[in-house]
Amino acid sequence: MQPYLPLLAALVALLVGLAAGKAWERYKLHEGRWIDRRRLRESPHYLLGLNFLVAGQLDAAIDELGQAARLDPASLEIRLILGNLYREKGQVGRAIQEHQGLLQRPRLTKLEHANVLLCLGLDFRRGGFVDRAMDAFSEVLRLDPKNRYALVHLEKLHEEQHQWLEAYAIRQRLAELDAPREQATHQTILAFLEHELGRAAQAEGRDADALRRFQAAIDRAPEVPPPYLLLGDARRAAGDLAGAVALWEQLVQVAPDRAHLAFSRLEAAYVQEGSPQRFSELCRRLISANPQDWRARLALARHLAGRGEPAAALDLLFEALVNNPHALVIHQAVWTTLSQLGLPPALVARYIDVTQDAVFYLDPHVCLKCRYRSTELLWQCPHCHEWNTFVEERIAPAREEEEDGSEILAP
Ligand SMILES: [Zn+2]
Repeated sequence: MQPYLPLLAALVALLVGLAAGKAWERYKLHEGRWIDRRRLRESPHYLLGLNFLVAGQLDAAIDELGQAARLDPASLEIRLILGNLYREKGQVGRAIQEHQGLLQRPRLTKLEHANVLLCLGLDFRRGGFVDRAMDAFSEVLRLDPKNRYALVHLEKLHEEQHQWLEAYAIRQRLAELDAPREQATHQTILAFLEHELGRAAQAEGRDADALRRFQAAIDRAPEVPPPYLLLGDARRAAGDLAGAVALWEQLVQVAPDRAHLAFSRLEAAYVQEGSPQRFSELCRRLISANPQDWRARLALARHLAGRGEPAAALDLLFEALVNNPHALVIHQAVWTTLSQLGLPPALVARYIDVTQDAVFYLDPHVCLKCRYRSTELLWQCPHCHEWNTFVEERIAPAREEEEDGSEILAP
């Protein structure tokens, strides 16, 4: 028996080791508590929670993920998601509490730390704690300098505070992260920010700096319209009318769909130069290049009406209405011109004919990103804060419905 003792001891030790290993695989020590990992894997709460999340049922998702988190207190990602869900529901205080709790955990990796801070920054931003949000995003960038989310949110915070220089620097960092073929959007945004820097300089009386900024914006992204307007104004104010006209005409050239922004300036300048026909020529060029251009027709109509040609003006306005029956400004111009002509019955009847299908619409601009509506053209959306996302919204006249309606009405 004696010789077998060491062998038996070794065998027992091996078995104990195996059992301990098995137990370790199933149970895990977390903050002084043993966690049953198999129970966790068999629990449906995590998957159910994700399903509810995908279906947009936030309350049910919070409920299931909360249960999953209780089964697995060690899990970072479930707690992160839970905090984000609280934020989405508007319970910012709870989200902050949840995420701040995670920062207390020992042995967070650098990337985990950055992720928690990013979520915390989003909580602060949502709660309106601007300084704390900025601190959180800056800290994320210290841990993870190429974190796009932190860069974008930090940029938006600076823009909201009109800290254009800081926003500009961050956009440059974002641009550096992308390949050369992805630079167009960055250049456009940098041009808008450069334009804002110019406006800020102008407001502070630093005119030379303002002009340099406006020119830099044009050089950076020639299709961005606003700097042409203000740089032209500055040239005109300095007595260089021809230089101003050249800039505004350049705007018409590079962004014909925004040409109307320069119309009143160009019209006044041409009149001042003694060549008002240049305005008619400009409008007609735009109309022939884009037959749907109702703004050029409206501008030309007003110009002609002002020069004693209301009949020609009215023809243009009717054409403009066909292209955009919803624009109140065209109707107002028609009313003025019809009154000017003494309301001739034939023209009034033609107007009624053109407009009977029209839907009056007061806010024709809409953000492509978030569908925010605005009565005026905005360069930055006040809702989603994206740049250059507004397009003119048009609704086709509801012809079929009108016809259906009249069929019902006619016996
Ligand atoms: Zn928007």
